[in-house]
Amino acid sequence: MKFYALRGAITVEQNEKDEILSKTRLLLNQLIERNDLENKDIVSIIFTATKDIDAVYPAAAAREMGMTNIPLMCCQEMYVEGSLPLCIRILMHIQLEKERTLQHVYLGKAVTLRPDLAKLTIAIDGPAGAGKSTIAKLLAEKLGILYLDTGAMYRAIGLKILKNGGDPRKPEDVIPLIKDTDVKVQYEHGKQKVYLDGQDVTDEIRTRQVSSAASDVGTIPEVRKKLVELQRQIAERTSLVMDGRDIGTHVMPNATLKIFLTASPEERARRRWKELKEKGTEVEFDTILQEIIQRDLNDSSRSCAPLRKADDAVLIDTTGKSIDQVIKEIENLLKV
Ligand code: C5P
Repeated sequence: MKFYALRGAITVEQNEKDEILSKTRLLLNQLIERNDLENKDIVSIIFTATKDIDAVYPAAAAREMGMTNIPLMCCQEMYVEGSLPLCIRILMHIQLEKERTLQHVYLGKAVTLRPDLAKLTIAIDGPAGAGKSTIAKLLAEKLGILYLDTGAMYRAIGLKILKNGGDPRKPEDVIPLIKDTDVKVQYEHGKQKVYLDGQDVTDEIRTRQVSSAASDVGTIPEVRKKLVELQRQIAERTSLVMDGRDIGTHVMPNATLKIFLTASPEERARRRWKELKEKGTEVEFDTILQEIIQRDLNDSSRSCAPLRKADDAVLIDTTGKSIDQVIKEIENLLKV
């Protein structure tokens, strides 16, 4: 028998019973799933909570999950001034028949605690309409880490050029404008907000005109340099799922996991057509299909960081698959 100790931590937003239990369940599930554990492998679990958490014992979540025969213990984490508040920590003792590499799991704001042990960076690339943003967002939510939509950044720059009457294909129109441009993607009440020079452009960047302007400005090396720098700064600080076109090949070449999501052009056009129809915009299916094919061509033929599957990325074709199926496939890849 081999003995191991696994570490994990997660933060809650409030000292509130349901949230403490659901976040503890999330952490336990991640420890179990990523390490392919069964209850019989677990010898004991120690939970600690910071002094600002007292609405419920975190161990209650483990009992609800059927860990009734495993000795569990809850303690208060010692308080050190300036330490991370509202944090639940786990120390799990494991006994396994064979030697294995295990993953510690740090989620929520706790990812900052031990980036050396458990920083998780997931790159999702692929063509327009492959399902990247839906999958990336859900996956990040499930893992309790940040989702960064890099397409939204290119869209914001595309919008700025259009607003200023410039041509997004002309570097001479684009370069002078991007120098002092401020693009921010942030989360407010769980919703992604995109700010361009301090102005909320979350909805404005989702039009078809902005999609093609984003694709055009994305071919200009100066635009890519500015946005890639910003993306790397964010990835440096935290665990995250980042989606785009050049994430696995260029922005995060050392990502923990790289996925290349794709689907047939017809399926991708069908998804976009349906999405637009639901928003009340009627467009011919063929027009959408041609736009998708044009964006694919733009994205994969540009000389600077073109859309390409990284050699070590896992290819997932989402044609005919449900969102749940794809998420499951990715979760399985995260197991060691
Ligand atoms: O993913 P989304 O459709 O929002 O991206 C809009 C456009 O931004 C893409 O067509 C692509 O040309 C560009 N883009 C890029 N590199 C990224 C993300 C998006 O060139 N990392």
